[in-house]
Amino acid sequence: MELKGIGASPGIAIGKALVIKNEEIKIDKKTNVDIQAEIKKLRDAIVLSKRELEQIKNKVAHEVGEEEAEIFGAHLLVLEDPELIGETENKIKNETVNADFALNETKEMFVSIFESMDNEYMRERATDIKDVTNRVIRHILGIKVVDLSSLDEEVILVAHDLTPSDTASMDKEKVQGFLTDIGGRTSHTAIMSRTLEIPAIVGIDNATTSIKDGDILVFDGDNGVLIVNPEKSIINEYKEKKKVFEADKLELEKLIGQESLTADGRKVELAGNIGTPNDLEGLINNDAEGVGLYRTEFLYMDSDKFPDEETQYQAYKKVLEGMKDKPVVIRTLDIGGDKKLSYFHMDEEMNPFLGYRAIRLCLDKTEIFKTQLRALFRASVHGKLRIMFPMISSLEELLKAKDICEEVKEELSSESILYSKDVEIGMMIEVPSAAIISDILAKHVDFFSIGTNDLVQYTCAVDRMNQKISYLYNQFNPAVLRLINLVINNAHQEGKWVGMCGESAGDEKMIPILLGFGLDEFSMSPISILRARRLIKSLNEEDMIELAEEVLDLESAEEVEKYMDDFIASRK
Ligand code: PEP
Ligand code: MG
Repeated sequence: MELKGIGASPGIAIGKALVIKNEEIKIDKKTNVDIQAEIKKLRDAIVLSKRELEQIKNKVAHEVGEEEAEIFGAHLLVLEDPELIGETENKIKNETVNADFALNETKEMFVSIFESMDNEYMRERATDIKDVTNRVIRHILGIKVVDLSSLDEEVILVAHDLTPSDTASMDKEKVQGFLTDIGGRTSHTAIMSRTLEIPAIVGIDNATTSIKDGDILVFDGDNGVLIVNPEKSIINEYKEKKKVFEADKLELEKLIGQESLTADGRKVELAGNIGTPNDLEGLINNDAEGVGLYRTEFLYMDSDKFPDEETQYQAYKKVLEGMKDKPVVIRTLDIGGDKKLSYFHMDEEMNPFLGYRAIRLCLDKTEIFKTQLRALFRASVHGKLRIMFPMISSLEELLKAKDICEEVKEELSSESILYSKDVEIGMMIEVPSAAIISDILAKHVDFFSIGTNDLVQYTCAVDRMNQKISYLYNQFNPAVLRLINLVINNAHQEGKWVGMCGESAGDEKMIPILLGFGLDEFSMSPISILRARRLIKSLNEEDMIELAEEVLDLESAEEVEKYMDDFIASRK
C-alpha cells in the first residue's frame, strides 16, 4: 500500500510502526465487586504509574532540564497523597464499587475543590490531579499508555498530531521517523521534525486508521511517499537511498566552517530557527551563523503557568551564550491562532488566525509582554541580541511595542540592572498590510524578517493548516513574490537589512529568487543550512538578479514553480 502526504523533514526512514491513538477512557460503575481484588488493582496501578513517572522525570531532567522535569515531580506527589488514595479505598469498601469508578469519583471531588480555590497555584494543581489520576485509571483498565520517553525498540511514530511536549520528551534515539494525519510543511509538528532532524511526513489523511502497530514502513521525507509493508526489493531500494542520503550528509559536512558566499562573492548570513535552547546543539552542528528566529512560545506552551522573568532570562541567556558573539533574533510571544496555552483562557473565535494573537495579545496584556521584555533586556548582556515582534500589521502597533521596550529599559535602569545598549529591534513581515507599508515601517526598525509561512496564508487568504485548500497555499504565487521584493527594496532604501525566517528561506527553489531580490539573511531549520550553503556557493548574484526579474514577469505560481524546477534540474 502506498500513501502520500507532505514531505516535512528530509531523510529515509525504515522501521516498524507504533501507532499512537488517544483512546478515550470509558468508566462504568460496577457494584458488588470483590473488594480486595479492586483494592489490589488500584495499588498495582499506582505502583506502575509511579515507576513510569520516576522514569520520565529522570529522563526529562537529564535530557531537557530540571525545570521541565518538575511537572512529573508534581504528579508523583499527587500519587503520594494519603487522602486521595485513602478516600478511594474507602469508597471501594463502603460502596463495593470498582477501582476505576471509585478513583474517578475521588478525582472529580478533589478537582472541584482545587478549582474553586482563590489561590492560582492551587487551582493549577487541579490539572495535575486530573493528569495523574487518568494515568492510574488507564493502568487499572489495561489501556496501553505509549510513553514516548522510554521506548523499547526503534519505531516510526504514527499519530494524529504530536504536541510540543510529546516531541520534547520523546526518545530521539529510538524514533526513526514521524507520520501524522494532519499538518502541512509549515505546521509546528513539521517544523519540529526538521529541528530534531528526524525524517517525517505530515498530512497523510488517514495514517492512524490505515496503519497498524507493527506494520513495516518505508518512506522518504523529501517527497512525502510512504509505503506500508513493502516487498523485500523495495526495502532494499530504500536501504540504498538511505546510504546515498548519509553519504551526501558527509559531503555537506565539508562545508562546515566555510563562508556563505555566492560564486561572485556576495556574503549572506545563514541562520537557524529554534524552538528551545535544547535545539542549539543542532544549530551548532550545522554551522549556523546565528539564530534567525527563536520561537519563544514553546517556553510558554511547555509550561503549566506563565514562565516567570527568571525562567525566561535563563533560557534566553543560555541561547545567547551558546551562540557566543553570533547574532540571535528572539521573537516575542506569538501565541493564538493554532497555538494555545493550557493555563490561559482564550475565547472561541470565528477566525483565530485573524484574531486575538501574537503582538495584539501582548499589547493588550502588557504585564505578560513586559515580563518577557525585562527578561530579554536582562539577557542582552550575554550576547548579540536582536528582538523582533510577530504579526505587526500597522505602524501604531510597532510604535506601541517600541514604547513598551523603552519603559522596560527605564525600569531596569532605575533598578540599576544592566542591559546592552546595542539591542537591535525589528519586526516580522507576515501580514500584507505591513508589507505594503514597509517603506514607512522601515524608518522605525533596525531590520525586518519576512515570515512567509503566515505571509502566504494572509496574502492568498488560505488557512495554512487546511489540507483541503493546500493547493492554493503556494510561496511561488506572484502576489507573494512581489510583496517580498517590495519589502526588501523598501528596507534597503532606508539602509536596513532584511532576513527571512519562514520556511521559504531554506527552500532550494526559492533561494535563487531571494538572492536575486537581495535578501541579506536566510534563517531556516538547522538541517537545511549546509544544503543552502552549497547551493549559494554555486550561484552568481548577477545571474540571480536576472533570474528574479524574469520570475517577476511570470503570471502564475505554476509558471514560477515550473521555471524553478527547470532551473534546478538544469544544474544537476
Ligand atoms: C512565519 O509565519 O513565517 C513564521 C516564521 O512564524 P510561524 O511559523 O511561527 O508562524
Ligand atoms: Mg508566523
